[in-house]
Amino acid sequence: MKILIVEDEVKLTQALEFLFNKQKIDVEIANDGEEGLMLAEKDIYDVIVLDIMLPNISGLEIVRIIREKGIKTPVIMLTAKDTLDDKVLGLDSGADDYLVKPFATKELIARVRALGRRKNTEYINEKYEFNDIAYLPKNFELIIRGINVKIPKKEGDLLEMLISRPGQVFTRDQIVDRLWGLESDVLENNIEIYIHHLRKRLEETNTKIETIRGVGYIIKER
Ligand code: CA
Repeated sequence: MKILIVEDEVKLTQALEFLFNKQKIDVEIANDGEEGLMLAEKDIYDVIVLDIMLPNISGLEIVRIIREKGIKTPVIMLTAKDTLDDKVLGLDSGADDYLVKPFATKELIARVRALGRRKNTEYINEKYEFNDIAYLPKNFELIIRGINVKIPKKEGDLLEMLISRPGQVFTRDQIVDRLWGLESDVLENNIEIYIHHLRKRLEETNTKIETIRGVGYIIKER
């Protein structure tokens, strides 16, 4: 699971990053609205934690813009009591949940986990199931016919991305950004190596990773 936190209080973001990492949840941070919007538009996160009062672009603006663009990433808004108006409460903005500051970090982690449960995914104890395979991200374990096999982290992260949203094509850019971070200059060949390994593992299953030429990859029933 990988989340984006957009919040301008640097100390808070550092603390949250530490706590989420302890829960084996990867975190990317943006400390202003502009950067937050740029990252949110990449559509590579499982959940976005979004402060409302931000420099440059407000959290409400960000959620409105990404929803207009068809990005469905679940959003939890962070709000101070004095900005808690009907707009947020009604969740008209397109957000899925909100939390009033100051909040207990345990509560935020629980809400993020709850929002991370996607429609097409059975997400019990962080287990993704699709067709005849399953994946446990916490231990990087692929489950085929009841047998758990530990796989390398990058391979697991790639599989998690695909299996968390079956039916969605992920572009090579999205995969590179999510697996290696935004400042990396990883070659696309690297993705192909991991795709190749995953395909080998799935050879005997009813599930395949399909290449959409010129676009990217999608997980499908064979
Ligand atoms: Ca703020």
